[in-house]
Amino acid sequence: MTLRLFNTMTGEMDPVTPADGETLRMYACGPTVYDYGHIGNFRTFLQLDVLRRFLKLTGTKLRHVMNITDVDDKIIRNAAAAGVSIGEYTARFEKAFFDDLETLRVERPEVMARATEHIPRMVELVQKLAAAGAAYQAEDGSWYFRLAAFPEYGKLSKKDLSGMEDGARVDLDEYEKDSARDFALWKAAKPGETSWDTAIGRGRPGWHIECSAMAMEYLGESFDLHAGGEDLIFPHHENEIAQSESVTHKEFARIWMHVRFLLVDGRKMSKSEGNFFTLRDLLLKGYKASAIRLALISVPYRHQYNFTFEGLAEATAAIERLRTFRERLISGSFADGLNEALQEAAWNARAEYLAALADDLNTAEARAPIFELLRAANTAMDQGELKAGDRDAILVVLKDFDAVFDVLEDGDAEATRRALEWAEKEGRMSEAAAELLARQGLTDAAIEALVSERSLAKKQRNFARADEIRKELAEKGVVLEDSKDGVRWKRK
Ligand code: AMP
Ligand code: ZN
Repeated sequence: MTLRLFNTMTGEMDPVTPADGETLRMYACGPTVYDYGHIGNFRTFLQLDVLRRFLKLTGTKLRHVMNITDVDDKIIRNAAAAGVSIGEYTARFEKAFFDDLETLRVERPEVMARATEHIPRMVELVQKLAAAGAAYQAEDGSWYFRLAAFPEYGKLSKKDLSGMEDGARVDLDEYEKDSARDFALWKAAKPGETSWDTAIGRGRPGWHIECSAMAMEYLGESFDLHAGGEDLIFPHHENEIAQSESVTHKEFARIWMHVRFLLVDGRKMSKSEGNFFTLRDLLLKGYKASAIRLALISVPYRHQYNFTFEGLAEATAAIERLRTFRERLISGSFADGLNEALQEAAWNARAEYLAALADDLNTAEARAPIFELLRAANTAMDQGELKAGDRDAILVVLKDFDAVFDVLEDGDAEATRRALEWAEKEGRMSEAAAELLARQGLTDAAIEALVSERSLAKKQRNFARADEIRKELAEKGVVLEDSKDGVRWKRK
């Protein structure tokens, strides 16, 4: 089964196959670790996780590289304000980023590369660009890329840049189309700023050169796939292409995948707009990590997604249904044999699920057959028509579903506990929802004790006490399920 992805470069759906026939080499632009990431950032990383997991599920090996931008204007400014070195400052947010990825069950790329640990590679690249006539040094000692040296500039974003002013410069990392100019490769040191003493002068790298240098370091001059959020198409990726191809004269990356924005009320979620939530904000409001994951991946990456709390509630309910269903399958006892109709339903659901993902990672369409199967199997169980062989077949389908979606195993209470621990350390407990605190107030042992007490009360026909305990637990977010094998409880 071959995945087809919309390639921003060709404007077509292209097959995602490794050029070397073995390992797919991909680069994804990582975070700038100057603060906690917001869930818009995580939408992009989660969609790349869907890509990773689907490729692995269908037998493709991966070499996925992600950079960590640990030096830039914002970092330098914030570290100075906090009175610490940039290394000390970024270490804290880099750790927060990895902790958040873990909470969201995003797999780690094979290679993580920090910008500050690759300065010599960037310097080397600037030197090569200068030798090729594509870079020059300005009066203040900064180095710029000469756009006029790369006539193909604009081929990714399809922007018409013909009216560009020759030799005009920009040293901001992010800028608009109208100011497409010679951009900074290396910024000369300013007094008091972190800088490196190198063969091209004292200074620090621009953002774009970072990715070109690290991508080529770990993946070679030409690789299979390059990804990031849609805001990176221009100028960041356009600049990466210009810098890399001016030196190598080879196609930098074959497939360009761009994840569209997470929006709030129709506007991009971003720090500067102030319309953002961090993962921790949502956990403290009482939303489960698994629901946040499911909500952020269920709208396919090719569509913008308007974030709402209803969306999170829908994901919470969907996960509840899936987990209850799997539990019912695992703990139930079924007669030996097969039910032809259910076998076929399971087989079809799996095929439709895989086909939807292979079609440009259409997660919304991939979910649908799984829930259809769930309905059919629940009905069959109700009617005593589900056989042991069907259970096994359905569990295989759920396993493949979870290999990509990864929401069935319940790690939610633990993720919430970590968020509360963090809030306590940071003095942000006032942001935690009251019901969450009540729920966390009950330890597992305390719940077990109440559950035993209730069973005893029932045995003694003290139904008033039994109901009272059920109510008390419910108020603290613990639900009980009576089954023939005893009582099961779980945190809501
Ligand atoms: P940054 O840390 O700002 O460099 O962003 C890290 C990643 O998140 C980049 O790939 C961005 O394109 C992506 N990103 C930023 N804002 C959003 C958003 N609202 N929705 C989706 N992706 C985003
Ligand atoms: Zn990049």
